[in-house]
Amino acid sequence: MLDLAIIGGGPAGLTAGLYATRGGLEEVVMFEKGMPGGQITQSSEVENYPGIVDIVSGMELMQEWPKQCMRFGLKHEMAEVVRVSRPEGLCYKIELSDGSSVGAKSVIVCTGSTPRRAGFDGEEKFFGRGVSTCATCDGFFYRDKEVAVIGGGDTALEEALFLAKICSKVYLIHRRDEFRAAPSTVERVMANEKIFPVLNSVPVEVYGDEMGVSGLKVKKKESGEILDLPVPGVFVFVGSDVNNGVLKQEDGSFLCDMSEWGEVVVDLAMRTSEEGLFAAGDVRIMAPKQVVCAAGDGANAAIGAIAYVEHLKREKLC
Ligand code: FAD
Ligand code: NAP
Repeated sequence: MLDLAIIGGGPAGLTAGLYATRGGLEEVVMFEKGMPGGQITQSSEVENYPGIVDIVSGMELMQEWPKQCMRFGLKHEMAEVVRVSRPEGLCYKIELSDGSSVGAKSVIVCTGSTPRRAGFDGEEKFFGRGVSTCATCDGFFYRDKEVAVIGGGDTALEEALFLAKICSKVYLIHRRDEFRAAPSTVERVMANEKIFPVLNSVPVEVYGDEMGVSGLKVKKKESGEILDLPVPGVFVFVGSDVNNGVLKQEDGSFLCDMSEWGEVVVDLAMRTSEEGLFAAGDVRIMAPKQVVCAAGDGANAAIGAIAYVEHLKREKLC
């Protein structure tokens, strides 16, 4: 029986692991289906993590985090969790995709969120063959070539800036005439000679052949005019979905209270409606979706989990 199971190894999960083990919990396992680091490892530029003065990539930012956590005894299991339930009594059951399961006194859900698709023709067909959600991973393939970026939030604009360093031209396609991104980022984008905003416009079709993408058709919303952009690369940054699947029970209900958008409802101590179950990072309500906030949530949740597990042990409850 684990003292604590942490689901997800992004900034929230890793920080929860650091605080839980350093704070005295002994059997703490972080279940992460991929490499630890989380979605920020897809970012090419991070300049708002306190204490890191230079602009670094997400990969560079996260590189040392696992090492620091493991030093205090956190165990990392590379496994996908399919469900967290509470079949009987006070303890939790963590079911893994290989069919095995493990018990835990307390759980912190840190499963984050996943990049969304924009929904235009050909997006799925060409995904990984010209359509991408990761400029750091795929930008280099389009060195000195023209690319398109879809979206008007922080991610789209920051990645457009990154791509502008590699590519000859970046079309920035946004469905409104105003960007959602931070004003300072918008300023940098507008000042960049290689970025061409295409506003009030939506992507309708990406096309190509077995070799990959050769162009993107974009519709001007007001006139209905179709622009044919001769780009071999299309980067989609239109937001993300909350990864709440592990909390779904066999009968379709959720283990704890959720918001109407599928985020986990927590209080200021990251406690869910279920005692001993915590949620941290992008998966929780009102998440600012920032690395520093996810990390803070993780620490906060771990402090609560330590107190909860100590209480169970003292009272010999689980
Ligand atoms: P995530 O980072 O999403 O981590 C969740 C982890 O859980 C993942 O590693 C995933 O593999 C794992 N997981 C999910 N489901 C399961 C399961 N069932 N079993 C096992 N493991 C599972 N924030 C900033 O502060 N500054 C920035 O400059 C910035 N830039 C960004 C750029 C991009 C391109 C993106 C996409 C995001 C950016 N963000 C930035 C936001 C930031 O990355 C997130 O807010 C932060 O990573 C959230 O951390 P998290 O730990 O909650 O979740
Ligand atoms: P986001 O803020 O939700 O922006 C998504 C963008 O995509 C919006 O501009 C939206 O248009 C557009 N969009 C959505 N669906 C679309 C569709 N089907 N077709 C075309 N366009 C579509 O997502 P994000 O940029 O990934 O950011 C997510 C969170 O992470 C935000 O809270 C953000 O602040 C944070 N983040 C922060 C930083 C940073 O602080 N440096 C960096 C990256 C991300 P509308 O504007 O019209 O809705």
